[in-house]
Amino acid sequence: MPASSPLMSTYLPQPVAFSHGDGVWLFDTQGRRYLDALSGIAVNTLGHNHPRLVAALREQVGRIIHASNLFESPLQKQLAARLTGLSGMTNVFFCNSGLEANEAAIKIARLYGHQRGIDRPEIVVYERAFHGRSLATLSATGNEKVQKGFEPLVEGFVRVPFNDAAALRRVGAERPNVVAVFLEAIQGEGGIHRARAEYLQEARRLCDERGWLLMIDEVQCGTGRTGRWFAHQWAGVVPDVMPLAKGLGSGVPIGAVVAHGAAAGVFKPGNHGTTFGGNPLAMRAGLTTLDVMEEEGLLDSARTVGDGLFETLRRELGAHAGVVDIRGQGLMIGIELDRPAGELVARALERGVVLNVTAERVVRLLPPLIFRSEHAAQLVDVLVPLIRDLLDRPQARAA
Ligand SMILES: *Cc1c(COP(=O)(O)O)cnc(C)c1O
Repeated sequence: MPASSPLMSTYLPQPVAFSHGDGVWLFDTQGRRYLDALSGIAVNTLGHNHPRLVAALREQVGRIIHASNLFESPLQKQLAARLTGLSGMTNVFFCNSGLEANEAAIKIARLYGHQRGIDRPEIVVYERAFHGRSLATLSATGNEKVQKGFEPLVEGFVRVPFNDAAALRRVGAERPNVVAVFLEAIQGEGGIHRARAEYLQEARRLCDERGWLLMIDEVQCGTGRTGRWFAHQWAGVVPDVMPLAKGLGSGVPIGAVVAHGAAAGVFKPGNHGTTFGGNPLAMRAGLTTLDVMEEEGLLDSARTVGDGLFETLRRELGAHAGVVDIRGQGLMIGIELDRPAGELVARALERGVVLNVTAERVVRLLPPLIFRSEHAAQLVDVLVPLIRDLLDRPQARAA
């Protein structure tokens, strides 16, 4: 971005601007075509320009875009019913983004604590976690870079290592003010780390035992990305609170907090709200996304195409010196290298592929769920030589 940009410099964008998209393809303003293996960070579930989504949104724009939550909303009720049906949970609050969904989850946990006579409620959060960039959600995030400069942080969070059941049990024994356990089913920004099924099951047991809320942030790993509607479903648990966002609207901003049991009844009129949240345009995007996912069998294909891609990457890169690990589930895959991998983003762009690097050393693949095996093969053809080339170059010694 030139120094003269009128934008605040919150990002260092690649020097490419996309003018339009078609399915798994993006086109830049010069007319170059790129394979999208990022989906705008797990957002464009149906790829770009999906005819069903375009038609539904056009129709909705011509009908009504916004009316506020001061009036009944049939579309909100429809989408809420879909989400509760798919999750086995009971009630939904709609908002506009991931951090807002997480902020609402944190408020539910605190109010739940107060309602049980705990005046200074604490929420268990995790190393490497990412929950957003509002003050509360960055305080819950386990990354000092996200927090630095924004102190004082919001209090009331207790941090533990991920997938460490003993540490969680210890917190339970030592801290009487804990009211909730808050984690991603798969840590996305933190480098694609899955919560083990046994860990989620143990967390569920502990929450039941202690009267804590199990709050699973599915903002990135939810909405079908792993081949189930929600990533925690692989572990057979049901959370009390589940924030959603990114992929739910296929590109239209949307957030949702799905709740179950006691957590679903915590908010009363006046406790929480939003002007834009749940607007008819976003609801229509959410409903259409879920409909098309079902009609086109995108859960199954996320799983099978993802498994195939994973196996190929393992075969091609698994034994290569410098590849630390290849992890993930469905169409959420991370390739951890032993060195910074950021330069791969620009190199892949030069070769017509959009991908991402997170946690400095983890190549992150989050293609749209309409990705097919032939697209995975095209991705592999570009990505594998790029990674090998990076790893085969002599490493600059750390100064
Ligand atoms: C992206 C993300 C968020 C924040 O979502 P925004 O819409 O950017 O506020 C929260 N939690 C997780 C797990 C995420 O991946």
